[in-house]
Amino acid sequence: MDTVERRPFYLYSKPQITRNFEAYRDALEGLNSIIGYAIKANNNLKILEHLRKLGCGAVLVSGNELRLALRAGFDPTRCIFNGNGKLLEDLVLAAQEGVFVNVDSEFDLDNIVAAARIAGRKVNVLLRINPDVDPQVHPYVATGNKNSKFGIRNEKLQWFLDSAKAHPDELKLVGAHCHLGSTITKVDIFRDAAVLMVNYIDQIRAQGFEIDYLNIGGGLGIDYYHTGAVLPTPRDLIDTVRELVLSRNVNLIIEPGRSLIANTCCLVNRVTGVKTNGTKNFVVIDGSMAELIRPSLYGAYQHIELVSPSPPDAEVSTFDVVGPVCESADFLGKDRELPTPDRGTGLVVHDAGAYCMSMASTYNLKMRPPEYWVEEDGSVAKIRHGETFEDHIRYFEGL
Ligand SMILES: *Cc1c(COP(=O)(O)O)cnc(C)c1O
Repeated sequence: MDTVERRPFYLYSKPQITRNFEAYRDALEGLNSIIGYAIKANNNLKILEHLRKLGCGAVLVSGNELRLALRAGFDPTRCIFNGNGKLLEDLVLAAQEGVFVNVDSEFDLDNIVAAARIAGRKVNVLLRINPDVDPQVHPYVATGNKNSKFGIRNEKLQWFLDSAKAHPDELKLVGAHCHLGSTITKVDIFRDAAVLMVNYIDQIRAQGFEIDYLNIGGGLGIDYYHTGAVLPTPRDLIDTVRELVLSRNVNLIIEPGRSLIANTCCLVNRVTGVKTNGTKNFVVIDGSMAELIRPSLYGAYQHIELVSPSPPDAEVSTFDVVGPVCESADFLGKDRELPTPDRGTGLVVHDAGAYCMSMASTYNLKMRPPEYWVEEDGSVAKIRHGETFEDHIRYFEGL
């Protein structure tokens, strides 16, 4: 805390990233597969380079994520471009680079055909089928149920197959895709979806398509609560679909984001002070919803601890842990039992590797924080500079 550029800051464990990757790699032994890391979970370039060296492909949701993946050295033929509103110019880039593209709707298919013509290259596509399986998660991160904005209506499957047949120069249908949601903690849900998906694959093959890929998306949850609950592992997830994958002789694509990166990081803050209003006690820290919005956005729980052992006589109370941002939604944790911290005490928010820095904003001109990781030998290295006030002023230069 004393040697970093400033607080708050994100602190990752590089060896933990490696271990998380290896858990998937080992679970997938005996299957032909692509582990596509979902870049939207965390787009730090150093982390991307590390995951690429370990053997990941990449899952992308924008042209800039594709550009970043290329910068990080990812093999574009192991990348998958997703999204319900992909832009034509981004699809052209995807077509030029030869990445897999998931077809999300009728208009999306039109745009992919147009992009293939502009790029002069046939695009390998997967159909993103909405399996209508309830992932039993917060509605903001549920994507595979009937009323979601993602994927094609499965009763429209024939229309998409006919369209693919009608565009043999632009499209090659190579697989089927689904993504159910995020923070899923029951692997039965993946199995239910995989059963439906292999049936779709049978139907699609019956019409003469040679499709080789089943993409079951990402979404595996992690132990945010730290209560010792036993959660499904990557091996549990893969084992529940293994026989289905082998029975249809397909390559399995998985798209983990959170389960590769969330538990490798914490946000390190400093306590600015403690106050009481009405019936509530507050620990006010320097970090906020600007750096880490998940609690404010989803009511998500992230485990919070003080960094140093508290004196034995410290009074334990129930606190809301809040930032300095001018919103009552600005909290990192509610109703936490903590020893009353002194000013300047370190306070960490755990499991902050996924959808934290990548969702950070500069609200209240809290510039995005620096990032560090602990290397294999225990040394600490900076992996991203903090953004500065000067960076902000640059947007107005020359106007
Ligand atoms: C967000 C997303 C993922 C990654 O989800 P996690 O819950 O982070 O594993 C994978 N695939 C698609 C299509 C996504 O939108």
